[in-house]
Amino acid sequence: MTARIIDGKALAAEVQKQVAEGVAALVGGGVAVPELAVVLVGYDPASHVYVSNKVRQTEAVGMRSRRFVLDANTTERRLLDLIEELNRDPAVNGILVQFPLPPHIDTARVVTAIRPDKDVDGFNPLNVGRTAAGMQGALVPCTPLGVMRLIKSVHDDIAGLGALVVGASNVVGRPMARLLLQELCTVSIAHIRTTDLERRCREADILVVATGVPGLVRGQFIKPGATVIDVGITRIKSETGAERLVGDVAFDEAIDVAGAITPVPGGVGPMTVACLLANTLSAAQMEAARSQAAGIDRMTAV
Ligand code: NAD
Repeated sequence: MTARIIDGKALAAEVQKQVAEGVAALVGGGVAVPELAVVLVGYDPASHVYVSNKVRQTEAVGMRSRRFVLDANTTERRLLDLIEELNRDPAVNGILVQFPLPPHIDTARVVTAIRPDKDVDGFNPLNVGRTAAGMQGALVPCTPLGVMRLIKSVHDDIAGLGALVVGASNVVGRPMARLLLQELCTVSIAHIRTTDLERRCREADILVVATGVPGLVRGQFIKPGATVIDVGITRIKSETGAERLVGDVAFDEAIDVAGAITPVPGGVGPMTVACLLANTLSAAQMEAARSQAAGIDRMTAV
């Protein structure tokens, strides 16, 4: 069997088109252009590339973006003050703080400080809880949201399928497992201390791998016909000094066994950015609905 390759770039382009249409409809209805504020602390080159990409794509779908670059020595207080300013700024619909943050800043305090309705990364505890409870109105972390769209491009219905998520981070693995559970998959999570990973992987109809360990999942780990989503991205330098990106799945082996598989690059990465745009639009739409409801309430009171 040769697996179908899931084209993350093409699916991301579809999402971006839908977001652009949503933005045009919102603005056409008299609402201000949605705006994303991106905050970067320090000068990590990879983070700068990610942020530039996010800013460029935000503008490409007709939204505004504002970029704040703070010095690597910025205090936690200064960062929290900036977040508070952005929380209060009515022009800002989404706030994204690029990770990783320098070690002197407490990441948990930062994600908690972002207003839940502007938390387009979906890491604020209120959004985490709402997602876990399957509640409406949650902003869901972009990578798992993108992965669900990739999976749904292969399966009309995943209820009842066995899913294994390898990796249990708060950014990818845990929210991923919660979304799969919401779709009524039978979900397991594997992590660094999991024993017999190979056997557990081989039981999964849907295998999502997010560990950052290049080539961890070998071809023989995969159930024939399974859908394999490779979230991992590791930059590897060849002997000539050229860099390339590799995933957590041994793609050349997996392609002969899986039913469908995402490539690295060109799989999950583009969908993550597209879902950030979708979340920013959702935040703006929810804000517009709240403002309209408040306006109607005021009129009723008069
Ligand atoms: P993390 O380091 O926070 O978490 C890694 C997880 O993998 C942990 O739960 C750990 O227990 C588990 N793990 C590590 N080694 C393992 C092993 N040998 N067997 C089983 N489990 C193991 O990483 P993260 O932030 O979740 O990111 C994971 C990978 O996904 C990284 O390569 C990251 O670059 C990538 N990533 C990609 C995107 C994207 O848009 N494509 C987004 C976020 C993260």
